[in-house]
Amino acid sequence: MRALLALSSVARTALRRLRKERPPASRTLAGDTAQTQPYFGLLVDIDGVLVRGKTPMPAARKAFKKLMNVKGEFIVPVVFVTNSGNCVRQTKADQLTQVLGVPISQDQVMMAHSPLRMFRRYHDKCVLVSGQGPVMDIAKSIGFTHVITMEMLREAFPLLDMMDHDRKPALASPKPVKFPNIEAIILFCEPMQWETHLQLIIDVLLTAGNPDCVPRQLLYPHIPVVACNMDLMWVAEGKTPRFGHGIFVLCLENIYKKITGKDLKYELVLGKPSEITYHYAECLIRAQAAERGWLKPIHTLYAIGSLRREQEGASSLEKTAIFSENQ
Ligand SMILES: [Mg+2]
Repeated sequence: MRALLALSSVARTALRRLRKERPPASRTLAGDTAQTQPYFGLLVDIDGVLVRGKTPMPAARKAFKKLMNVKGEFIVPVVFVTNSGNCVRQTKADQLTQVLGVPISQDQVMMAHSPLRMFRRYHDKCVLVSGQGPVMDIAKSIGFTHVITMEMLREAFPLLDMMDHDRKPALASPKPVKFPNIEAIILFCEPMQWETHLQLIIDVLLTAGNPDCVPRQLLYPHIPVVACNMDLMWVAEGKTPRFGHGIFVLCLENIYKKITGKDLKYELVLGKPSEITYHYAECLIRAQAAERGWLKPIHTLYAIGSLRREQEGASSLEKTAIFSENQ
């Protein structure tokens, strides 16, 4: 609620400014004069700000109406920045359109894994992806071309996943399979069946991507690991916050450390409050402004989130603001 009040006040300021600054000057593609073009963009969190679980916050629709012009277009560039990672951007855009009652495009949505689109060096590697939802579709939408899901790995090596007695394989000794060597692990979001994921990810780490082999020594450093969303908790309908992906990753780190004595290292950590995330969001804001024909530089970004998030992200945001002003 506090965040939405802040959003309303930012919107009010923008509107006041746009009303005050009228004609003349040259018009852009969007028909806005140079003076009525926005100088700032908005980065808006979703969970705990616009929705709580699947329940919309009552003030969200009202606040967003104030950010639209009579043609139903945004009067400032807006990007929704969420740490969730269990769907593709279009799915989230559709959900937001429902919640806010205004059309939201996938180009306005940034999930925890979205910045991976910039890291092309991973796109042609054979990657093992962990998460829930349509993980294969998510990976392909980012640009990955050679994707292994946990189910594919489990099927190829049925003797590895032995925790759940009801899911143990019937075969005593399955035939050897040809399986590609996994070159990197991408952790999208919290998975289902943690015991399976924890076991198989550790297997892949200890065997340098080939869980069929028996390593004679510790292979360290391990293959690259990318983690999206390190939030320990998140706000749903419940009275208290719920376990997030950060708790899963914490388990993984501790298991790896206990077994090997070494630290699990990340090549990349994405999602708020990582600096990469805010830089990518800034790129999306600039792209949106360019598309609308707003030529005036966007030199300020306002991020609207829960109080805890604002505190965590403060240092990154300050850096983003400095970066923006230096453009
Ligand atoms: Mg949130």
